[in-house]
Formats: sequence, structure tokens, C-alpha cells
Amino acid sequence: MNERKAPDKAQSASTAVAEAPGVPEGAVLRGIWPDSGSGGRRRVALTDPVELQQLDLEALPAATVTAAWIPMLEDGMGQPIRVPILVAKGARSGPVLGLTAAVHGDELNGVAAIHQLLPSIDLRKLRGTIVAVVVANPLAYFRRTRRLEEAHDLNHMFPGRPDGHVGEVLAERMRDKLLRRMDVLLDLHTASKGRVNTLYVRADMTHPLTARMAYLQRPQIIVHNPPSDGTLRGMAASLGIPAITVEIGDPQLFQRKYARRALSGLRAVLADLRMIPRKPGSMGEEPIVCNSSAWMFTDQGGLMVMDVGLAEPVVKGQVVARQLDIFGRERGRYRAPKDGVVIGHAVDPVAPTGSRILHIGRVHSFSRPGILSREDVRDAARKEHPWEVLGPRWREDPACGGTTPESPPPREPPADP
Ligand SMILES: [Zn+2]
Repeated sequence: MNERKAPDKAQSASTAVAEAPGVPEGAVLRGIWPDSGSGGRRRVALTDPVELQQLDLEALPAATVTAAWIPMLEDGMGQPIRVPILVAKGARSGPVLGLTAAVHGDELNGVAAIHQLLPSIDLRKLRGTIVAVVVANPLAYFRRTRRLEEAHDLNHMFPGRPDGHVGEVLAERMRDKLLRRMDVLLDLHTASKGRVNTLYVRADMTHPLTARMAYLQRPQIIVHNPPSDGTLRGMAASLGIPAITVEIGDPQLFQRKYARRALSGLRAVLADLRMIPRKPGSMGEEPIVCNSSAWMFTDQGGLMVMDVGLAEPVVKGQVVARQLDIFGRERGRYRAPKDGVVIGHAVDPVAPTGSRILHIGRVHSFSRPGILSREDVRDAARKEHPWEVLGPRWREDPACGGTTPESPPPREPPADP
């Protein structure tokens, strides 16, 4: 027997969330570093999370933040495995900006960026809705690893299938329950275990909207990377949702400097979408744009010593890492195969044959057509507001959110015992 709450009942009991000065301290969304907000800290109140079978944005009250659990799977005792989301619905209608964190379960800076973002939003001025999936992959989060099972990476399983492996089912339900509600998506990641990253963005830099989001994010590095099959970003693109991947530093950590910088990029995208008021100010340092990137791997085993650091330029032939044997004798040197910039590198000194060494981006010159420069993006925006092409999905809908959830498919009756 299905005893879960009906969606309408859950939603009517929902949220009662407001920007209220009299709310007890324990019920206030404060962010991880309450002293370092952007746009001023606000006392955004949250009641207890509600359970929602479907994300019906129209049913949520305006000018509130809702904390909710979305049931996705069940464990071996038949208990729900749920995805936590925060939904900030503005007082006025507008686009739905999606954020996803922890698609890889040990990548936590995106969680911190979401926790910092929501208290920085003035809900009375917010136009549209922010749907923040705090932990997209609970199975991998519980294991405190990248993958949901040893061989299964959720970010290679999209769009998923309803009758497949657990990761494929999770991917398919994420698409139907959450992704379809979004107009744009920023998927927040970090480096993998044993490695460190710059703050960098992967985006299709030939697409005016994803290139625009990439520049607005103000990362150290942008890598042109058309969305590939199997990723969340690729699936979003196939649904017509402009999406970028933001890599925010290192795994298994909350890193204040990266989360803060990511937060300012998220706010810049929100302002560009006219969802929050634009603040005058510098766009920040120009990112380095790469038209491709590649990893270097070891061809023998030993101890690895890095000779270059994050965001450092390298030239072809430069020694970037040395390998020692276990007695400390140098066994070999690894040289950059091309000019470029260090996007990320390994930090684990133990490096058997086939270990990742260094992620090098090949710097783009803009003399070649295809990849849009920041000036190209800016010039295009002078002609028409770039987001108009997102179309009538929200403009024709007076209520915030736009889409109506589809009914779930009928469940097969249980077979006779
Ligand atoms: Zn990741």
C-alpha cells in the first residue's frame, strides 16, 4: 500500500516561509559563512522541509523559500531515497534557474554556493524561481564518493531509463521531476578525489547563451566543451535548456574563496536574466579561454612531484612533473605536450602506471571562428536582450514557473501472489 502523501496535500501544508525578522534563530537559512554574503544578508526563514512527489512551481507561495524532499528511489527496506531541494520563488513571474550540486557525491563546494546564494536574494525583488538541487546524487553522497556504485558515474547515465540500472532510473526521474521545470541550468562540480581544480567552466562557447553564462560566471578558466552524451549538461541541452558546468575547486571540502567567487558568478547570471536587480561593478578579471583540454597520464609507476601549480601557463616541452622511485631517485620527467594553462592536477604522490598527472587547457586565440569572445557576446547583447530567445515558456505564463507537471505513468498492479 502506498502511504506516501499526495502532492496537493503536501504542498498545501508546505512552506509558510517568509523573510521575517521575528523568526527563531534555528529556523533561519543563514548560509555556511553568514558574515560573507553578496547583496546583503537577509533573514530568510525556513519551516521544516516538506515532501513533494512532483515539483509543481505554481502551487508554491510567492516570495518564499521552500525546503523540500523529492522521493526518487527506494532502498532495500522500501524506504524512500530522497533528493533535497531549495526553491526560492520570487514575488514576480520570470524564468526558472536551476542549480544542481553533488551529482558526484563528494563534490561539496556547490552545496556551499547554494547555501550562500539563497540568503543573498531579496525575494520581494526576485523575478522568477531558483530551483536548487542541493544533493542531486544521494546514493554517492551517502558513500562520500564520486560514483553511486563502484562502476557507475551518474554523470554518464543521462538521460537515463525507467527500467534500467539504479543510476539510470535516478537520471530519468531527475529529468522528469526536476530538469523539465528549468529554463537554464548551472551544474556545480569540483575536482575528483586526489586532485585539485581551478574555478573553471565547461561550456559550449559557440552557443551565445552558454558562452554568455560562462563569461558571467567569471571563472579563472573557460574550456570550450560541447555537451557530451550521458552528462546532465548534455541532457539539459537536448531538452533545449542552456546549461554550463561550473567546476569549483576541490572535492570533500567547503572552500570559502571558491564558493564566494562562484556565488558572485551565479548572481551575475541571475542579474543578466533580469531575475534580480543588476549591481553596477566590474565584471572581474578576464578568464582564460581554452578551445580544448586534455589530461596527461603516467606511463610508469612511482612517486609524483608536481613542478607547476593551478592556473599557471605552461609552454610546450616544459617539465611539469617528475617521477621518483620509492627510494627517492628520479625515474623520469613529464613535459607539457603543448602550450597551455594548468586547469587541475593530481595531489596524490602515489602514481602507478596510468595515473592522471595534469589537466592542461589549450589556450584559444579568437583569431579562429566559432568560439565567441566576451566582446562577441557583448556586441550580440546590444542588438537584443539575449535571453529573449528562451521564448514564451515563462513570458506567456502569468504565474511563476510556467510548466505544468505531467502525471506519473500508471503503476502496474501487483501480480497475484
Ligand atoms: Zn563532478
